[in-house]
Amino acid sequence: MMRDFVHENRPVRVVFATGATQFLPREVTRLQLRRLFVVCTPGQAALAAAVTTPLGPAVAAIHPRAAMHVPRAVADAAVAAARSVDADGCLAIGGGSAIGLAKAVARDTGIPIIAVPTTYAGSEMTTVFGVTDAGRKSTGRDDRVLPAVVIYDPQLTVSLPSATAVVSGFNAIAHAAEALYAPDCSPVTALVAVESVRALAEALPRVAADPGDLDARSEALYGAWLAGTALGATTMSLHHQLCHILGGTFDLPHAETHTAVLPHVLALNLTAAPHARNALRRALDTADPAARLFELARNLGAEMALKNLGMPEDGLQAVVRQALKAPYHNPVAVTETELRLLLGNAFAGIAARTESTQR
Ligand code: NAD
Repeated sequence: MMRDFVHENRPVRVVFATGATQFLPREVTRLQLRRLFVVCTPGQAALAAAVTTPLGPAVAAIHPRAAMHVPRAVADAAVAAARSVDADGCLAIGGGSAIGLAKAVARDTGIPIIAVPTTYAGSEMTTVFGVTDAGRKSTGRDDRVLPAVVIYDPQLTVSLPSATAVVSGFNAIAHAAEALYAPDCSPVTALVAVESVRALAEALPRVAADPGDLDARSEALYGAWLAGTALGATTMSLHHQLCHILGGTFDLPHAETHTAVLPHVLALNLTAAPHARNALRRALDTADPAARLFELARNLGAEMALKNLGMPEDGLQAVVRQALKAPYHNPVAVTETELRLLLGNAFAGIAARTESTQR
């Protein structure tokens, strides 16, 4: 088989270890940062204070105001606060919301980010930024928002409730799965994506069964790192587009929405993406990856119906319209009928199944 590809390695330093936050002072010194602006969600303010205590006066301010989908006003306030303390670096402690806010700060001020992820969202490995303005989420890519250093400490994820961990893990699986049929998926990214799906599918049931299982948490976080790497290296397709629209327009919870939508998009897309289908079959040890992911998520207690995540039924048509207006790349050129069917199934939580699992 001929292989034509472009592959670019991004300059992110990754420190991965149980207890890795102990290396934070070393990494801050390495980057010669003296006035850190620390961002987190309100719920993680105590964690941020504890993790940054060893940094002493290098912490200029802790800003516990991150919110899901980076609302414009929240981003503007953080940029102003970072400028007011003359910050020379932004330290994000938390999930995609904290890291998303750090990206907004980095984009406007040009200061580097150190990310300490505590969920499996994977934003720390991408140049993708997002902001939500008047019910519209817009995303873009900017090298300035890629963290200089990412510190993965599985210990910090033990407090992530298992229900949140499961959906966050599916958010990561979605990154890896869509990377596999992206037009710019290189052989290296494909290996990364397959290993990511394997690791997450293996770890999530163990995390759900025993939230204190540090080995399972470590495997899940490892899978999340790989998923973020795959997302960062590729163009997003229909699944991510639908989730951006659903999240930005109806303020649906991010990871939960990814979990409910992914099997339905895969059921459609894998019929036209044989390489991705075979790779996911290998990673999940199944003939039908879409059905397998649906069952796995449901068996682990995830909500599979968008209607139970706050999606209004009369909003479905608006999602279809928005998706068709500026379509993302996708292996299947979707029609209005297909999109309506797909979203209707996700809305109702009907089990997904790839049309032709025999091909
Ligand atoms: P989140 O960051 O909002 O976290 C969810 C909740 O869990 C928050 O209340 C948070 O305080 C809490 N939490 C996080 N870690 C915890 C822990 N270890 N213990 C206890 N509680 C914890 O949600 P998320 O799903 O991580 O991120 C979603 C956001 O990230 C969305 O806005 C999404 O668009 C963005 N995102 C961006 C990219 C990108 O590449 N730009 C990629 C993925 C996600």
